[in-house]
Amino acid sequence: MTTVHNYTDLLPHVDSGTGREIINPATEEVVGVAPVGTVDDVDVAVNKARAVQKDFDRLGDAARCDLLLKAADAIEQHAEVLAELLSREQGKPLSGPNARFEVGACSAWLRATASFESPDYTAVDDDITATVHYRPLGVVGAIGPWNWPMMITIWQVAPALRMGNAVVVKPSEYTPLSVLALMKIINDVLPDGVLQVVTGDGEVGAAMSTHAGIDKIMFTGSTATGRKIVESSAANLTRLTLELGGNDAGIVLDDADIDAIAGDLFWGAFINTGQTCAAMKRLYVPAAQYDDVVAALIEVVKNSPMGVGLEEDNVLGPLQNKQQFEIVDRLVKEAKKGGATVLLGGEPDYGAPGYFYPATLVGDIDPDSPLVVEEQFGPVLPIIAYEDEEWAIEQANKLDVGLGSSVWSSDRERARRVAARLEAGTTWINGHGGVDPRVPFGGIKSSGYGVEFGAEGLKGLAYPHIING
Ligand code: NAD
Repeated sequence: MTTVHNYTDLLPHVDSGTGREIINPATEEVVGVAPVGTVDDVDVAVNKARAVQKDFDRLGDAARCDLLLKAADAIEQHAEVLAELLSREQGKPLSGPNARFEVGACSAWLRATASFESPDYTAVDDDITATVHYRPLGVVGAIGPWNWPMMITIWQVAPALRMGNAVVVKPSEYTPLSVLALMKIINDVLPDGVLQVVTGDGEVGAAMSTHAGIDKIMFTGSTATGRKIVESSAANLTRLTLELGGNDAGIVLDDADIDAIAGDLFWGAFINTGQTCAAMKRLYVPAAQYDDVVAALIEVVKNSPMGVGLEEDNVLGPLQNKQQFEIVDRLVKEAKKGGATVLLGGEPDYGAPGYFYPATLVGDIDPDSPLVVEEQFGPVLPIIAYEDEEWAIEQANKLDVGLGSSVWSSDRERARRVAARLEAGTTWINGHGGVDPRVPFGGIKSSGYGVEFGAEGLKGLAYPHIING
């Protein structure tokens, strides 16, 4: 068992001058040093994974479920130290739906994944007996982003292990330490080689997606990188699950109880300081309710402190990296130039340490402003007034992405009728972005293909072997 006094005990030793310094986005101080993996490291990891995978499969489903439960226990034993490291590296606060919440989700997802019924079944009739047995694909490559680095890695790894695959993880180059630490804890309970990590940048990811020894890539990240992975998967016909970018719309209907929904509207957009794939990134509001919605949201924002994640009062943090700060800053500036009104925020302190962008509400905005039609991935919400519900539905559906969406109303049946017309993998009613390990989750259009979670998710990490007769 790993003995852990503080988060540095969970970090690998890196020879001086060979690693990548990882910066705390709240303070710009160094959190630790990550190894910089190479394409050769991918080969070594894949060969080792192939060597152990068949034995791992032979362990059987019940034994693997037991290992997932033990991994969940191990995470819970180290929850606070993992949350602290995550907060330092990713920037998200400990409090609120942030670092402690993310670590909690890791153990919850492992437990849930161990609890699903096996997808195997037998079709029996007078003239057929066919057994459908879901068998592991072999070696899975798990490539992840920097926004929810631990939780998303678990989303990829848990079903892969449950189905008997070995996994090679490639975390984002911005948040490798959190993932290395989490995998170290989990590896205390797993057979050697079944779960490995190769850190590094896009080159390492690209080496994985072209590797003949990798049977499936689970990818979560931007649509641009997703497209590259699709291209490179052609050579080996590597299977893919792609969870890509989104630009989720929320539509408030004219019967919504604004005071009742304000808090959930806020978190639907600002969870993880807006750096969430299925966060609400544009909000359509009936013109008659516009002033009330704006006033209610301003009130919630004012009561949601932003700052260094280790300070318990804060519930919003910095952008994770400078590049992301610059994207958000540019989009708000362009909106202003286009005549939009900044209702709150919009004025970062450029000289202060950290990549903090204040929670920002933007109104009177052109519905085709880049801030509306591009994925802003930050603590900014454009609010667009509408007169005609049909127009709002058209606007929600007009983009080439379709991850999530939401409808807000006091009449559930009415909301469900509008929801049925929205083009997205998930449409929430009176909420946005809540995911559950039992319910499939995935995108349409350029938000990707394949689903994660639940029995559907398990099938994505296996192939059906049919024994007919
Ligand atoms: P990104 O695409 O820049 O990077 C994601 C990962 O891909 C990183 O590990 C990176 O090193 C790797 N990578 C880069 N180039 C590669 C290549 N050519 N081949 C293989 N791998 C390569 O994404 P990001 O900026 O880290 O994450 C933010 C994006 O992720 C946003 O668009 C967000 O919406 C999306 N996202 C989607 C979901 C979802 O479930 N749909 C969840 C979280 C984030």
